[in-house]
Amino acid sequence: MKVLKFGGSSVANAERIKLVKKIVESNAKDDKQIIVVSAFSGVTDLLLEAAEQAALRNEGYTQIMEEIEKRHLDTARELLPVSSQSKILSAVKRELNTLETLLEGAFLIGETTSKLLDRILGYGELLSSYIIGEFFVSEGLDAIHKDSRTLIKTDENYGRAAVDFTTTNHLCETYFGTVTYKIIVAPGFVASSANGNSTTLGRGGSDYTAAIMAGAVNASVLEIWTDVSGMYTANPKLVKQAFAIPDISYEEAMELSHFGAKVLYPPTIQPVLMRGIPIHIRNTFHPEEKGTFIRKNTNGSSRPVRGISHIDNMALLSLEGSGMVGISGISKRFFEVLSLHNINVALITQASSEHSICIGIAEKDMQKAEKAVNEAFEYEIAAKKLNPVIVEDHLAIVALVGDNMKSHQGLSGKMFSALGQNNVNIRAIAQGASERNISAVIHKSDVKKALNTLHERFFEDNVKQLNIFVMGVGNVGEKFLNQIDRQKKYLKEKLRLNVRVVALSNSRKMYFDDNGIDLKNWKEALENGEAAGKEKFFEKVKELNLRNSIFVDNTASDIVAATYADYLKNSIAVVTCNKIACSSVFEHYSLLKDLSRKYNAPFLFETNVGAGLPIIDTLKNLVASGDKVNKIQAVLSGSLNFVFNNFNDKNSFNEVVKQAQAEGYTEPDPKIDLSGIDVMRKILILARESGYALEIADIENESFLPQESLDTVSVDDFYKSLADHKSHFEKIYTDAASKGCRLKYVAQFENGKAKVGLQHIPKDHPFYNLEGKDNIVLFFTERYNEQPLLVKGAGAGADVTASGIFADIIRAGNM
Ligand code: ADP
Ligand code: ASP
Ligand code: MG
Repeated sequence: MKVLKFGGSSVANAERIKLVKKIVESNAKDDKQIIVVSAFSGVTDLLLEAAEQAALRNEGYTQIMEEIEKRHLDTARELLPVSSQSKILSAVKRELNTLETLLEGAFLIGETTSKLLDRILGYGELLSSYIIGEFFVSEGLDAIHKDSRTLIKTDENYGRAAVDFTTTNHLCETYFGTVTYKIIVAPGFVASSANGNSTTLGRGGSDYTAAIMAGAVNASVLEIWTDVSGMYTANPKLVKQAFAIPDISYEEAMELSHFGAKVLYPPTIQPVLMRGIPIHIRNTFHPEEKGTFIRKNTNGSSRPVRGISHIDNMALLSLEGSGMVGISGISKRFFEVLSLHNINVALITQASSEHSICIGIAEKDMQKAEKAVNEAFEYEIAAKKLNPVIVEDHLAIVALVGDNMKSHQGLSGKMFSALGQNNVNIRAIAQGASERNISAVIHKSDVKKALNTLHERFFEDNVKQLNIFVMGVGNVGEKFLNQIDRQKKYLKEKLRLNVRVVALSNSRKMYFDDNGIDLKNWKEALENGEAAGKEKFFEKVKELNLRNSIFVDNTASDIVAATYADYLKNSIAVVTCNKIACSSVFEHYSLLKDLSRKYNAPFLFETNVGAGLPIIDTLKNLVASGDKVNKIQAVLSGSLNFVFNNFNDKNSFNEVVKQAQAEGYTEPDPKIDLSGIDVMRKILILARESGYALEIADIENESFLPQESLDTVSVDDFYKSLADHKSHFEKIYTDAASKGCRLKYVAQFENGKAKVGLQHIPKDHPFYNLEGKDNIVLFFTERYNEQPLLVKGAGAGADVTASGIFADIIRAGNM
């Protein structure tokens, strides 16, 4: 015999019930089948709401009743042939009338007892099973409807009655053993007491009904048909990458379901476990999928962690105080009082000092528990031996589950470090004595991030998803997005990084898509986005609370630079080509570095110096490996290099600068480049990265520009002034040329002092042949003291800058 259970969503409407029939029919050649069904999806909730409204004397309950009636009658009409409709519809109506009378009773007396509530809630299953049974008969199946209340006997603990297995097994064996029909359709969830009162087995209890029947008849298999393809590695509604676990032990499945995997009602396992009956979880909408087998001897999996689950709406309750040490029986009294008040304890931690006990309970029980415990320890609290209990709500538990966890070391370390890296604060931890479970209590708002982080860590073969938030999509930003788009596949396959751009913003608009923005159509998406705002952008990033988040600043804005601290404090990495933050006052630079360390969030700005050239990274590696920087000499301005490479006695200085601007090598205001400000910022950053607390004002800058040019206020005036001082520039050129030297704008850092300025570079110097817009840096260190370490190459341009940002993203991903 087989037992098949179909959940609420599998029988939500006529169309779905037809799929159920197909599944049942495909087994028709087999032995007998017991078909246990839930209420049509949502009906139990509607019944509950109707009862609550009625008890509040709110007439609105009649509308809910109408909705319930309509759903059942419509479904029956759709399923049944006209010829047999009237008999069945009037039977359904009769049941609905009784239900209405019960609700009316609740309305009149203004309350529902738990006994009445069980009677009312059971109607969902009673009606659905009756309609489905009659539908099967009308389709020619050898089927009969049987009321489970005549088979499953319980005590009178309404709401969650306990099964009397001796009587139940006997009744089931007798009935199913003698019934001649091949298909028996029975309601899940409902049962009755020895006195004949209707009871229920607890919310989600239809699974349990099916398991009780399967155990009683020693079924060959218990099939749970639902709306997902098995028991997943994590709740598939929250973790997109979760997948169905092919094979899992009874104990693991029980642990997962206890810790919130709703796909299986926790008590379900007990009745089948004893007889070794396998449970097969299957998808009604995809019967071709393999599903999950829950059984004794599972095919071993190499993964120590089998699944991750969570329970929402938890609270922590802690009892502490110096008086705890030594007073015997405190724990005993503590747990007794909780049990007396029917408070279920989901998790316990006790410090070995015995100074405190901390338990996890359902949020709804929090006030009741607080009051009960404070009352029970009234004397100790008054005597100041114990403190009044401390409660904390809005929490959740996440748990790793697996039979093999005990034979693997370091799993909890991995779990907590993965959560910590993503700024998930852990309030309490517990490891089950069976070592089949490690649980952490966290804030409710972190659940999705925590589940995804843990899933990635334990199930995704080290593929790490990076969630990127990009501000600034101009020249550099656009190139950067193109590069990501081109490299996506490679990064995933070779570097195991799954790079997803989640948000884009320019100065007018911003656009978010937490499934990842399609980089082929990002411009259109951004145009249709919402109005931009730096604050709003940050708030949204924070609210999304995604793991491995990286904020990328491709702007030159000081307002954007001022927001980095906010990101870092939320463990969001910052990657930037904007030099403003790192060249601001030292205190701010060092604050950002500290936040980065404290919150485990990379802060990377390789492109601040020399665009994509690995200058800062090289410097960091030198310092980290214990080397000491004595001197840095560098040409760091692509624009100035271009200007002095092209300026000679055949052209005028002012024309060359114009040409540089026309070719895109200078800032819109060329004075920013020519005054040396940009180079000052760069050498400042290198000095700081070498370990020196320098300020911009400490840098010597002997400008080669005449004071009058420096004083101009408009770009036009600036050019005019350059032209007016033609001879000043000619002299600069001839002074150098007469000595066989070339002009280079050099930044230098030595003995803790930095300076920038134009220098005469002789033929044998490494700077002499520097072409076009190239940059060059010489590091003279303790290790590289005679021959400096040299980094040289294209140091400006959108393409190389974009690739430098890209490299920082990969660095952040690998940290
Ligand atoms: P039914 O109505 O068929 O009894 P339920 O809604 O009770 O179905 O259970 C199925 C749901 O359980 C899924 O739709 C999914 O949202 C949820 N769920 C939570 N955790 C898991 C998990 N680990 N694996 C599968 N489903 C899960
Ligand atoms: N209909 C009941 C509920 O919603 C039982 C079940 O579906 O398993 O809780
Ligand atoms: Mg269920």
